[in-house]
Amino acid sequence: MSFSVTILGSGSAVPTSSRNPTSQHIECNGRYFLIDCGEGTQMQIRKLGLKLQRIDRIFISHLHGDHYFGLVGLLSTMHMMGRTKPVNVYGPLGLKDIVEIQLQAAGSRLAFTVNVIEHEPESSGVLYEDAKHVVRYFPLSHKIPTSGFLISQKERERVLNVEKARADKVRIEYYHQLKKSQDVIDEKGQTISFMEYTSEPPISRSYAFCSDTRYHVPIIEFIKGADILYHEATFTDKLLDRAKTTRHSTASQAALIASKAEVGQLLMGHLSARYDNGDQHEFEAKPIFENSRYVNDGEVINIEA
Ligand SMILES: [Zn+2]
Repeated sequence: MSFSVTILGSGSAVPTSSRNPTSQHIECNGRYFLIDCGEGTQMQIRKLGLKLQRIDRIFISHLHGDHYFGLVGLLSTMHMMGRTKPVNVYGPLGLKDIVEIQLQAAGSRLAFTVNVIEHEPESSGVLYEDAKHVVRYFPLSHKIPTSGFLISQKERERVLNVEKARADKVRIEYYHQLKKSQDVIDEKGQTISFMEYTSEPPISRSYAFCSDTRYHVPIIEFIKGADILYHEATFTDKLLDRAKTTRHSTASQAALIASKAEVGQLLMGHLSARYDNGDQHEFEAKPIFENSRYVNDGEVINIEA
């Protein structure tokens, strides 16, 4: 199993030479997602050696340009590189019209289907689910309707001790049941105990993404106990007033959310272009939530570890 996040863009609205607008590439067990698609996303994908055509699902948090201005360019490149398999784009109401009008104005006919699946950002629910993962959305509090996302691994099967099972001549057709915590009655009427042949499953991990938002306590119920929380920290405390008027967060506010939500680690991003680095953000966040740090473009965070 693998579950990792690559930070494609850790900056806010104004790109800098070292920070692109928001975008993240998620790999979970052979599935590839994007969260947000700011300007420059496709160049970051190329620079970092990621494979554009493997991305099947794109989740857009809100319609401020620094979170989706790269979307139509990225879709166009997918087309020019010969894509035929569909892409699902999940985003707030209004996104479908935006994508269509841009493609129509250019007379572009993509050789693949773009399914834009809109949701109401004031609500919460499941956007996508497969056998191993679920992606949920929930409301943040920003200047326009905005969603946060939670990607969780589903509860996993117990781990079979194959050597022991083989040695004891347990039939292969019983393996599945044993891994599902079920005892088996074999053909001789003997009970095969799942506890004897399996061990505890690996812990299921989760990743929460909260950008952009002001300090907003109601998000805690949706991200409680996440292994990793990415929370925007556009400003430091000195610019608390600016954070309030623009409906963004400071580093200490992000840390307070992380602490209250009892997450494993806080990653801070969406840093304003006025900061060369996030040292001051860490200085302010760590006394509130020790396991805090800021992220840089190009970083890979392994959630499975
Ligand atoms: Zn925004």
